[in-house]
Amino acid sequence: MTALRHLRSALLSVAVVLAPVVAASGQGTAAATPPVENEPAAIDTIFGRSGRLLARFFAPRHSMEVEPIARLFGKREQKGEGNLAVSDSISGRQLSLFTLRPFADKVNGRVGDYHIGRFPAERRTPRSAAYENPDGFIEVTFENKDTPVSEHFRLVDFLTHDQKDVWPKYLVLREPLVDKLELVLVELQRRGIKAERLAVMSGFRSPQYNQKGVGFRGRAKDSRHQFGDAADILVDNNRDGRLDDLNHDGRVNSKDVRILVAAVEAVERDYPELVGGLGLYRATRAHGPFIHVDVRGARARWGRL
Ligand SMILES: [Zn+2]
Repeated sequence: MTALRHLRSALLSVAVVLAPVVAASGQGTAAATPPVENEPAAIDTIFGRSGRLLARFFAPRHSMEVEPIARLFGKREQKGEGNLAVSDSISGRQLSLFTLRPFADKVNGRVGDYHIGRFPAERRTPRSAAYENPDGFIEVTFENKDTPVSEHFRLVDFLTHDQKDVWPKYLVLREPLVDKLELVLVELQRRGIKAERLAVMSGFRSPQYNQKGVGFRGRAKDSRHQFGDAADILVDNNRDGRLDDLNHDGRVNSKDVRILVAAVEAVERDYPELVGGLGLYRATRAHGPFIHVDVRGARARWGRL
């Protein structure tokens, strides 16, 4: 196999649906871009549709794909088992290549001391492939928790909010979710909305954590949050934990949520492979309005303003 063919096959297996390269500015016209043909283009696709992914996750059965990708980059640093950081000498941009801890490492609902619980497919036949058990878990240590997964998100943003003192923690997070969130930011900015930061109120929810809240604030037994492809988000540039006044009319209300919804709809139109759930949540005494976004692979809508 020639070096180029080897490279291509390695990359194509990284993400079966390597979408056409879209420039980091978000203005790329996706449809006309030819398939990966040369090395620079190939490197771009590693960073996702948004061009902003900074971490890739490999199921244990795909761990042999890490090395060919690492070889595309100039520098490498092993950051603990299963976490290889590589950087390209031209841009200096760093990419983290994580090999997942196998799903089978979960014994009696735990990996190490971290309590995860039992996934829906461990209890009953999954209703579709999207509800199968995850391939494995990202090991998040106290040291690596701030690793960027993309330009605007870190591993820690998606962790289940419990077991504060237990390390390492384990995370299920799917790349298409992160890519979609970045594309929503791109779309908001394209529409002239000041959106520098999407706060993730809730990302991965381990099954045992999700179970405790079923029925509370619309939490579902089969929640996509358990599969690492869902996030409850709001634009929060000023970090006050509340949705910002996106249309500058002096109040935070459904009109601001609608701006967020329109951006998500636009991303789904441009990238049908990232289609999923979109849920709207009104303000309560406990929290301001927010939306749920996921990449379950089928369109779902709930909640109203
Ligand atoms: Zn949600």
